Amino acid sequence: MYYIHLKIYSTAFRSIILKKFDLSKLATSTIGDIYKRKCVEEIHFPSIQGPWVIQSINETREESWINSILSFLQDGVLPEEPMAATRLRRRVANFTIIGGELYKRAFTGPYLKCLPPSEADYALREVHSGVCGEYLGGRALAHKIMRQGFYWPIMKQDALEFTRKCINCQLHSNLTHTPAIEHASLQSS
Ligand SMILES: [Zn+2]
Repeated sequence: MYYIHLKIYSTAFRSIILKKFDLSKLATSTIGDIYKRKCVEEIHFPSIQGPWVIQSINETREESWINSILSFLQDGVLPEEPMAATRLRRRVANFTIIGGELYKRAFTGPYLKCLPPSEADYALREVHSGVCGEYLGGRALAHKIMRQGFYWPIMKQDALEFTRKCINCQLHSNLTHTPAIEHASLQSS
């Protein structure tokens, strides 16, 4: 009895697996292949009828160092002060916009995504003490974030400050037992 039930379940399960497999094959097929299989139904109307409500979300960008560079690259807006304008023009050469987001050109390696302060803080927390956090020290932490493809101008200072304030690092770091005075040589006879 149990064996029969088991057999029915296993057959049903295999058919589900096969259907899933077909779907996965469809995703990688060309249009011609799809029509050869004759298992595609074209739907010309939405499956859910009713009044549609579109919620518009006006996302305002966080005020940060990114905005001045973005506004110059997108609209050519420069600060009124001539010195600041010159500085910005020079700085902008290292940046580019991809998909509406600001990226910094790296000397070697991929483009680095520019982060505003709130996201930079999240990146610091996640890389230092997140799920895969190694509790790295300041400079190593900044380098690791850069290797992950992120950038903000004062990342080294921020990383150093972050690790200095980290309570776990202070509690569990190696203690230095060397006295903070000059070593004196001892003689014995
Ligand atoms: Zn720490």
